[in-house]
Amino acid sequence: TVEVSGVPFFDHKGVRKVILVFYDITQMKRSEKSLKDFVANASHQLRTPLTSIKGYSETLLDNPPANPEGGRQFLEIILKNADHMDKVISSMLALARSEQVGEAFALSPVSGRESMGRAVADVTPWAAERSIALRSRTPEDEMFVMAEADGLLHVFHNLLNNAVKYSPEGGVITLSAEDDGESIVFCVEDQGPGISREHSFKVFERFYRVDENTIDGAGSSGLGLAICRRIVRNFEGEIWHDGYGEDTRGARFCFRLNKPAMDRPVNV
Ligand code: ADP
Repeated sequence: TVEVSGVPFFDHKGVRKVILVFYDITQMKRSEKSLKDFVANASHQLRTPLTSIKGYSETLLDNPPANPEGGRQFLEIILKNADHMDKVISSMLALARSEQVGEAFALSPVSGRESMGRAVADVTPWAAERSIALRSRTPEDEMFVMAEADGLLHVFHNLLNNAVKYSPEGGVITLSAEDDGESIVFCVEDQGPGISREHSFKVFERFYRVDENTIDGAGSSGLGLAICRRIVRNFEGEIWHDGYGEDTRGARFCFRLNKPAMDRPVNV
């Protein structure tokens, strides 16, 4: 899209001329549209639980239930919806932070092993509640990657949380890391319902959820993977879903990050 503005003037011979300035506003229009989409999606995401909070609060006020148990059930629904709004807002803030334009990312060597270990320790109690086992398949060597420690941990947390969320009771989640010389590829694989090919790119889009209708207890905003993708890209890496292997039943998310230059093989 091009916008034009003109400035008329007379040259030294008195001839009338016009200077035309062309502005390429394609990018601007695109970001305007994406901002509009974002606001529309965000409002929708927040309005749904808010409507429920308002509805149940009004019912409690207008028709107080005779027995305390009835009131408790309503309050639990209100709390669940408030928790969901809390999660959506935190995710939106995390996304905004990771999308700050012009922000310089100070990448430095970060231990992938340590980050994975911390994330596993954090989700283990939650996984244990449903007898879900977490297994790691990693090389013996230290695995340093160019990243920022908090961002890397955020990506592991997000992928592991999703894996637990979608795993069946008693399922196994496998974490792996593979050194391919230039970079390290980390994967998180579960035995849940998986993601079909038609959805496998879209799940990285903001607010995209395969099943729109589920607002489960753990909260679902459709922002988690968009944040992971932004963070991994900020680290000059890539992230994808490839749960279509011979023996893969569930979802398998992988991301690749560069190794520090000193750890890469020297080509002679
Ligand atoms: P959220 O989990 O908050 O909805 P995400 O961006 O993390 O948001 O995920 C987007 C969608 O991708 C989810 O709503 C779900 O449909 C699908 N998804 C993500 N991880 C998995 C997984 N491990 N197994 C099956 N589906 C998944």
